[in-house]
Amino acid sequence: MDVALALAWLRASAGAVAAESDRLTRLDSAIGDGDHGVNLNRGFAAVVAALDATPPDGVGAVFVKAGTTLISKVGGASGPLYGSALRALGKALPPGTEVDLAALAGGLNAGLEAVRKLGGAEPGDKTIVDAYRPALDAFEQAVADGAGLTAAAAAAARAADEGARATTAMQARKGRASYLGERSVGHQDPGATSTALIFQALADVAS
Ligand code: ADP
Ligand code: MG
Repeated sequence: MDVALALAWLRASAGAVAAESDRLTRLDSAIGDGDHGVNLNRGFAAVVAALDATPPDGVGAVFVKAGTTLISKVGGASGPLYGSALRALGKALPPGTEVDLAALAGGLNAGLEAVRKLGGAEPGDKTIVDAYRPALDAFEQAVADGAGLTAAAAAAARAADEGARATTAMQARKGRASYLGERSVGHQDPGATSTALIFQALADVAS
């Protein structure tokens, strides 16, 4: 992955979040406070604006800047969670204008760890983790099997989408949706859904 691809991924994520904003907000209206689409749309638009204003010259710096921007622009749970993930991803990457697949896998792993550390969610809690964890597992497996970025990202996107769909049957144990208890069952988690969009954006730009 080079700087141009990192920028393309974040732009594609912003585009997907904008296109699906209403759906994310609808999902969040069912089990939260109905702001997830608005939150992320505002955040990713700010990310694109910040990257356009001063384009970073390293791959890691692109993600650190994106994460810092999300943290500063998005209130609610998802801004700090996604922002911390992107910052951790950027910081875990070796310096330079290009990173290899193993480094990217390591960075994605650091991103998930940041989400776990900040939010304390385990798999099955009906959160971002339920899409991110299977996506990362699929990415790492594909890389271990000798796949390139295109195939690894496609596998990650499929796994993230399956993970997001599987949250429908779960009862939320973290975040706002957990206040609903059993009534959170039967609705797909908005954060897991946006995570699947972000991995699909990576697959799209890497194809
Ligand atoms: P808020 O809940 O503050 O309104 P958003 O609506 O933007 O924030 O985001 C809600 C999403 O955040 C949830 O659908 C869930 O996926 C995710 N989330 C909430 N708490 C956690 C957590 N502790 N760990 C991981 N993800 C979480
Ligand atoms: Mg919300």
